[in-house]
Amino acid sequence: MTIRIGIPQSLFYYYYYPLWSTYFKETGCHVVVSNNTNKNIATRGVQLTVDEACFPVKIYFGHTENLLSRVDYIFCPRIVSIEPKEYICPKFMGLPDMVKAAFNHKVKWLTPTIALKKNCQQEHKTAFIAMARELKIDSKLAHHAWDKAVKAQLNYEKFLLKELTPNDALEVFSGSKTEKKLSNRDAPSIAVLGHGYNLYDPHLNMNLIKKLRDHGFNILTPEMVDKEIINQQSSKLRKRIFWTLGKKIIGSLYDFSENNRIQGIIYVASFGCGPDSLIGHLAEGYIRKNNIPFMLLTLDEHTGEAGVNTRLEAFLDMLRRREAV
Ligand code: SF4
Repeated sequence: MTIRIGIPQSLFYYYYYPLWSTYFKETGCHVVVSNNTNKNIATRGVQLTVDEACFPVKIYFGHTENLLSRVDYIFCPRIVSIEPKEYICPKFMGLPDMVKAAFNHKVKWLTPTIALKKNCQQEHKTAFIAMARELKIDSKLAHHAWDKAVKAQLNYEKFLLKELTPNDALEVFSGSKTEKKLSNRDAPSIAVLGHGYNLYDPHLNMNLIKKLRDHGFNILTPEMVDKEIINQQSSKLRKRIFWTLGKKIIGSLYDFSENNRIQGIIYVASFGCGPDSLIGHLAEGYIRKNNIPFMLLTLDEHTGEAGVNTRLEAFLDMLRRREAV
């Protein structure tokens, strides 16, 4: 019988879905993705989680519940690090324990530890091959699936570098849209910075990217900048940033700003997020020094859309007036 693997459409889904889904499909599993975030998923996530968790983690619980009755396993990797000598927020280390505690024995779990320290590609592969053993998948098939998965991921990342957002790139990846360039370099650009799961979940951020595009702006995000450039730009800081996603945010900010690519910056933060409080502060210092229009949008389950719209419209009006002077 085909094994059904559930992938919550949340958190690192936006970074690694092509790798994960291709791997499972190529090993003969059936992949089930949770529904798009909606009011019910978000509300259930809030109800199922401790108050102290940030909103994106709460939403992850709603996505997990959404999958329970439809799958044999839920894939919830324990992500510690994806670059040498750097880390992902500690919430990701505890995530499998948190969701298992909430949903107990309602489903089986796949929770490989992703702690990439030296030879990242090899270590990543080892974690996935070990997971295949747990599923009793033939080792040769698992190795072949890994190669295919890496190719799919590299292709996806190429789309991001062409300035497609992950959501646009995933539509191309799934075949529901043909490749087309959705960014419009001629339009004035706004950098939207923050952790990917805040930027690309339209329910969580109240359709921020669509709203900005509808107002005629081109959107630039950290995922659209090459890794080498991120490393080079972020190394200008006096002290090295050891959070990989924070490094992406700072590196992309420097790059967009030095190349005069942006008219303004919107930083999307989660209420109560430790990394955001530090990275947001570093970003804001740089932005103020360089006199770039800036808006900080801090989101949680209590944020009202009307307030966001009003602030957004005021910010965009200010950008237009500045341009006209
Ligand atoms: S970095 Fe912030 S938003 Fe992301 S999981 Fe950690 S606390 Fe939550």
